[in-house]
Amino acid sequence: MLEIHQIPVLSDNYVYLAHDAATGDTAVVDPATTDEVFAALEEKGWTLTHILNTHHHLDHVGGNEVIKAKTGCTILGPRADADRIPGIDVQVGDGDTYALGTSVAKVFDVPGHTRGHIAYWFEDSDALFCGDTVFALGCGRLFEGTPAQMWHSLSKLKDLPEQTKVYCAHEYTQGNAAFAITVEPDNAALVARKQWVDERRANGERTVPSTWGEELATNPFLRPDSPDLQKTLGMVGADVVEVFGETRKRKDNF
Ligand code: ZN
Ligand code: FE
Repeated sequence: MLEIHQIPVLSDNYVYLAHDAATGDTAVVDPATTDEVFAALEEKGWTLTHILNTHHHLDHVGGNEVIKAKTGCTILGPRADADRIPGIDVQVGDGDTYALGTSVAKVFDVPGHTRGHIAYWFEDSDALFCGDTVFALGCGRLFEGTPAQMWHSLSKLKDLPEQTKVYCAHEYTQGNAAFAITVEPDNAALVARKQWVDERRANGERTVPSTWGEELATNPFLRPDSPDLQKTLGMVGADVVEVFGETRKRKDNF
């Protein structure tokens, strides 16, 4: 089982430490920065052994080289984007598994936000590190992929257990909720969640991680088959990729 420690950095990023208590192996997921990571390691008394990168953006790999130089850790990242991951040692892709001590990650290729984005699922710890693919109530912008690609990526995660914690890389939830309610106004679970999110943020509290079950019930980007969503978009009965693409487009312009 992993012990997971969440570190807020920059304006809205989350970096995570994942510690395998049985062996002491400790990974940092998407280190945007370095000082906060070293401080958190010291505070927890953990020794870093790995960096797990989800994609190449600077707010996810910015700390790679300094952290590797200081700790000698092993860097994992997407095979499909290996040339853009600083210091990469181990390239992983769809269906691969990787053992962090006794905790095993299953890797999914989830392109769309970037060409070579991956997600790490630690089944025994109910933990999904999904970078900028899924956010609480949102999904990543399609910088390097198509709606069809992103929908296919999200669909790979559909059957994860509902109790899976979604450790996404940004605190974007309140803005995402404000958009989501405009496209699925009659979703009671979404209305309740938005209220919870607004209260949390008003108190300066985090809304991440969420659970996969919450996302399936309320995240419009996972719900292109929702009649309520289709009705709002004027796309009743349309293909789910079309509905997903239109939802993404509206969020881009929100
Ligand atoms: Zn990104
Ligand atoms: Fe990011």
